Amino acid sequence: MKIKVMDKVLAANDAWAEENRKFLAQRSITMLNLIGSPGSGKTSLLEKTIDLLGKKLRIGVIEGDIATSRDAERIGKKGIPVFQINTGNACHLDAHLVNAALKELCKSSRLNLIFVENIGNLVCPAEFDIGEHAKIAILSVTEGDDKVEKYPLLFSEAKALIITKLSLLSHTNFKLEKAEKDFRKVNREAPILRIDNISGEGFSGWIAFLNNM
Ligand code: MG
Repeated sequence: MKIKVMDKVLAANDAWAEENRKFLAQRSITMLNLIGSPGSGKTSLLEKTIDLLGKKLRIGVIEGDIATSRDAERIGKKGIPVFQINTGNACHLDAHLVNAALKELCKSSRLNLIFVENIGNLVCPAEFDIGEHAKIAILSVTEGDDKVEKYPLLFSEAKALIITKLSLLSHTNFKLEKAEKDFRKVNREAPILRIDNISGEGFSGWIAFLNNM
């Protein structure tokens, strides 16, 4: 019985995801779904990305959080359109919520790139299609190098893996080679980008990836 209910939820979600894909295609907008743990550096990655690309592309951001608008306030300071979704207790954004946010965000702005910062979590956000062009997995070196093995769905679906907080590597026992080898077991294609949000190390690869989307 539980499985049937879940099927219905996912079917309804997929219909909204299709709506979102149409909405984005009509406006030639690329939408990327950033997924990673709380504190993995998703918002910092966005801040730095906007600094580097905000003049070249018309960027908008949808922020997903259980509570608060702290991330939207941080992004808003960059002077770009941002919409905060608070899910209350839901552990992921679904396509219906994103549809409402997309309509709001595009009401007064013509955008060509939208980032969705999903709820900080490696599990549920990977299960819900929101109509994005690509899921981007964010993994910080402070989380431990076993996360790829423990949460394979996200890493198998990702179109890029971004390893953040590189400058802290020597203070952890995170083994880049192990994490990257585990990633290749579930994902043969997606590029692996090692970056540091503070120093900007590795951002040229990320910006090149975005320019090729
Ligand atoms: Mg954040």
